[in-house]
Amino acid sequence: MGGWAIAVHGGAGVDPKLPEERQEEARRVLRRCLGVGAAGLRAGLPAVDVVEMVVRELETDPVFNSGRGSALTQEGTVEMEASIMDGRGRRCGSVSGLTTVKNPVSLARLVMDRSPHSYLAFHGAEDFAREQEVEVVDNSYFITDENVRMLKLAKEANRIVYDYRVPVPSADTCSASAGLVGATTDGGLQMNGLPISIYAPETVGCVAVDSGGWCAAATSTGGLMNKMSGRIGDSPLIGSGTYACGACAVSCTGEGEAIIRSTLARDVAALMEYKGLGLQEAVDYALKERLDEGKAGLIAVSRNGEVAYGFNTVGMFRGCATEDGFMDVAIW
Ligand code: ASP
Repeated sequence: MGGWAIAVHGGAGVDPKLPEERQEEARRVLRRCLGVGAAGLRAGLPAVDVVEMVVRELETDPVFNSGRGSALTQEGTVEMEASIMDGRGRRCGSVSGLTTVKNPVSLARLVMDRSPHSYLAFHGAEDFAREQEVEVVDNSYFITDENVRMLKLAKEANRIVYDYRVPVPSADTCSASAGLVGATTDGGLQMNGLPISIYAPETVGCVAVDSGGWCAAATSTGGLMNKMSGRIGDSPLIGSGTYACGACAVSCTGEGEAIIRSTLARDVAALMEYKGLGLQEAVDYALKERLDEGKAGLIAVSRNGEVAYGFNTVGMFRGCATEDGFMDVAIW
């Protein structure tokens, strides 16, 4: 047994031109959250409590795209989603379409612990939140001025990027996988049909293994900027954006549609279980072989206390801490 370990992410697909202050702010939040998680693991909390606690912190801070600070729908509203999975017993809970729940990850936890189901969405999830008396706030609480500005830019950009449902005019300006990733007309990087700078990639996630060797994962997001109302991404989908079992725990970020098609999180676990790959090998293999041209990143821990990262984007906000005192936070 390798002791406890924890990793967090704040999204893949970082804008290469992200201002230095913004990078420093992200690093500071990641460090703080790792500190909170490490303290919990040191005190002997189970991994599932720790991932919930850390993701709550990230949801409460407006820096990333989850809870307060969530990306906006086409209508300018927030529809949040989250999931949590405990490798011990492979129990899981997911929520989508939340408009008033302050901490979506904790409602996902309640779906897991106190409902007969694994996944609740939209008004049913909101009703369950009230029944469970979780903290609710007005939708405007989640909306930041920065995201209102980003939505405006996203709407403008949508007028100039190619629609993935129509044939693309030329190879050098077309998108790569199913038309979802490619270059803007000015040659800039693009994800989900939006220039990277306004795609709102900063979904959050946490994976942890406790000193008993049990793994857990949680992921939370507002989804994509300018998404259609009702759109569900990979983050709440067990096996796609989040997975935990006896071998490992995984949380993904990036192009939700590509992650869903590749069942990315479950594939990492399956590669370990069925092919006997090590954690980092499984992460690298899944990213290379399963994503086609999709852009994504992921964090993972194994029951032996190993940590692995992987991404095929320019950057991914991420960090990890282990029982032997190691702590690392990085973007590029
Ligand atoms: N995977 C998220 C989604 O598609 C977005 C992200 O991770 O940046 O909703």
